[in-house]
Amino acid sequence: MSATILSGKLLAEIVRGEVRDEVAQFRRETGRAPGLDVVLVGDDPASHVYTRNKEKAANECGIRGELHTLPADISEEALLKLIGELNARDDVDGILVQLPLPKAIRSDRVLDAVSPAKDVDGFHPVNAGLLASGRPRLVPCTPLGCMRLLELAKVDLKGANAVVVGRSNIVGKPVAQLLLAANATVTIAHSRTRDLPSVCRAADVLIAAVGVPEMVRGSWIKPGAVVIDVGINRVDDGSNGGKGRLVGDVAFAEAIEVAGAITPVPGGVGPLTIAYLLKNTVIAARWRSAT
Ligand code: NDP
Repeated sequence: MSATILSGKLLAEIVRGEVRDEVAQFRRETGRAPGLDVVLVGDDPASHVYTRNKEKAANECGIRGELHTLPADISEEALLKLIGELNARDDVDGILVQLPLPKAIRSDRVLDAVSPAKDVDGFHPVNAGLLASGRPRLVPCTPLGCMRLLELAKVDLKGANAVVVGRSNIVGKPVAQLLLAANATVTIAHSRTRDLPSVCRAADVLIAAVGVPEMVRGSWIKPGAVVIDVGINRVDDGSNGGKGRLVGDVAFAEAIEVAGAITPVPGGVGPLTIAYLLKNTVIAARWRSAT
């Protein structure tokens, strides 16, 4: 049996279409575009690509996207001052601070300074707390993408065994909260979990958000399970003209023979993360204009 491939690329196009419609309606109603301001500190090449893509994706959907590029040696105070200015600006609905920040800057202090109402990444403790309390407001984008992929897979989550491998604040914990809210029976596994293969084998839905290339083997997967692979890992094996290749946290070639449905890497969860960032920007804009 070969699993159904859950294409995040196609699904992200649908989500972006939804965003374009929502933006057009917001503009008709308010006479302005929703605004997303992306803050990039330093010169990490990957971060430059990610932030440019976010700005471009926003502008393509009719959102006013703006990138603020700051030098790596900027002080924490100067960065906090910019966040304060963006918090106060009426045309800014979403603020995204690209991670990682330089070591000299305390990331928690900066992320906590973003107004919870403009926290389109959903990382602020207020938004994390609301999600955990069953009153979600701005929810992290990658977990929202995972849930949309499960919807595409037509999984009945009610009572299903869902195993999330990884407990980060960005992916593992919030996706576990969303699965719980959808009435799944949720297990969160991590680096100290005993007998991880057996824990995974009990999963009707398996979400891997670990950051270890191809860690989840085919033999860890229950036949017919739905597998969402969040991992994005570059393997430098000399392939692709020396650039290496991207793989997930799941050994795809093995898993596809066992799972009922599976996301590829690349082209699975990744494209949905940006699409849901745009959705969150419109949600933030709507709330701000309604209050
Ligand atoms: P973190 O490094 O913050 O968290 C990794 C988690 O995996 C931790 O909870 C850790 O456990 C757990 N872990 C690490 N090694 C093992 C192991 N051997 N066995 C079991 N659990 C383990 O990573 P993120 O959550 O930020 O990201 C995870 C992956 O998802 C990465 O590959 C990242 O690139 C990718 N990613 C993809 C996105 C997308 O858009 N598709 C967005 C965000 C991330 P412990 O807590 O015990 O240390």
